[in-house]
Amino acid sequence: MPLTPLHLAPAWSVFLTARRKWSFAGLSIGSVIPDAEIPILYATGIETQTGHGIMHSLLGALTFDAMLAVLAVYLLYPALAGWWEGRFGTKWVHFGGVDVGDIDKLPRVIAGVYAGIVLHVGVDFLTHTSMPYLWPFAEPVSTFSFARDFWWLILVNMILLAALLALLRIHLGRMEDTAPGK
Ligand SMILES: [Zn+2]
Repeated sequence: MPLTPLHLAPAWSVFLTARRKWSFAGLSIGSVIPDAEIPILYATGIETQTGHGIMHSLLGALTFDAMLAVLAVYLLYPALAGWWEGRFGTKWVHFGGVDVGDIDKLPRVIAGVYAGIVLHVGVDFLTHTSMPYLWPFAEPVSTFSFARDFWWLILVNMILLAALLALLRIHLGRMEDTAPGK
């Protein structure tokens, strides 16, 4: 249970490793999409062995989650980025010196989405005592005994929150210096 938006911290860290290669939209949306099943599980009262459903299994993640995320990149992200730019200005659709308001080509989006999803289900390993990674082929994978302890959940969430705030502070709104000769 890292809170869903905190999954952006690892995704944005990966983006910064090669900011001209990764799709910011793909990584960002991929890193939060598996939790789309959580409200549905709550609303329908479906109980699962691990508290997670197919969107946190590798099979579901790499098919269903990825398809949803790619659709969201093309159908929702442009409107969101456009609104954000209109509200706050062009500078604020820059992250790490890259204009992240533009939509990347499909292969880059898919690569970003896959990386974001794998990061998400990987980070969830830290805060669950079992994960349905191999559903429907095998029983849930056990993690470690204190994964659901309150102190541990707070610690993991605090670290991710600190990382997210630091990333936002350092990289959001940072425009590349494109002056001639640079
Ligand atoms: Zn999750």
